[in-house]
Amino acid sequence: MPELPEVEVVRRGLERWVAQRTVADAEVLHPRAVRRHVAGADDFAHRLKGHRIGTPSRRGKYLWLPLEDTHQAVLAHLGMSGQLLVQPHELADEKHLRIRVRFADGLGTELRFVDQRTFGGLSLHDTTPDGLPDVIAHIARDPLDPLFDDELFHQALRRKRTTIKRALLDQSLISGVGNIYADEALWRARVHYERPTATFTRPRTAELLGHARDVMNAALDVGGTSFDSLYVNVNGESGYFDRSLDAYGREGLPCRRCGTPMSRRAWMNRSSYFCPKCQRAPRS
Ligand SMILES: [Zn+2]
Repeated sequence: MPELPEVEVVRRGLERWVAQRTVADAEVLHPRAVRRHVAGADDFAHRLKGHRIGTPSRRGKYLWLPLEDTHQAVLAHLGMSGQLLVQPHELADEKHLRIRVRFADGLGTELRFVDQRTFGGLSLHDTTPDGLPDVIAHIARDPLDPLFDDELFHQALRRKRTTIKRALLDQSLISGVGNIYADEALWRARVHYERPTATFTRPRTAELLGHARDVMNAALDVGGTSFDSLYVNVNGESGYFDRSLDAYGREGLPCRRCGTPMSRRAWMNRSSYFCPKCQRAPRS
């Protein structure tokens, strides 16, 4: 699954190559790719036609293209293998091309949604007064959002009777922090993933948010990152980033701070990686 930095890289690519272009027509080559658009493929194509794409937007890992003058937006679900590519018309179709959007201009490129495993897709939704597709109105702001409220997040943490990693992955509290970045931020902050949120002081919350922002910004600086080699950014360059991860995937390797072998524990159908010395388990 792409993480927030990859999605932001795609968003920036779309902003550069697709924003302010008017849709000439949209072609759905596989109905599964628009299954979240309940009215169907013809309706999807009809509603896009003739509208200008506004500034591509993102919240957490959700990405959408506003349609100007409609109060509607195209929400992109990248799923496991979805790619949004801007390609020259003359370039042969990708094997797993699902949706093609042509534009009414002479720029010579089109937008393609390519998805090998077809878990992803595009769908059109009404937008809220904030400009969010209505189906994601409940998703909290992400920590890279300038309007993310640190104090509000801290208060929510204190009220919630949960543990910190669960809270970091709770999209109604904070969005865009996936399993990888949660482990990285917790390692940097020397916090065990099962620490109760009720024990968090304001400085500790601030420190953890700072680390979460640092790891995501570092990934953004090198153009996004993903473990899925199928992921390609909007320019067609591989978004695969050989990151220097400090926690995730490092079971048995020495902690980069203290040298203790890193641990892995099964956690909510995933894994948590941590240093058993730097990140002491809370007393139960
Ligand atoms: Zn350590």
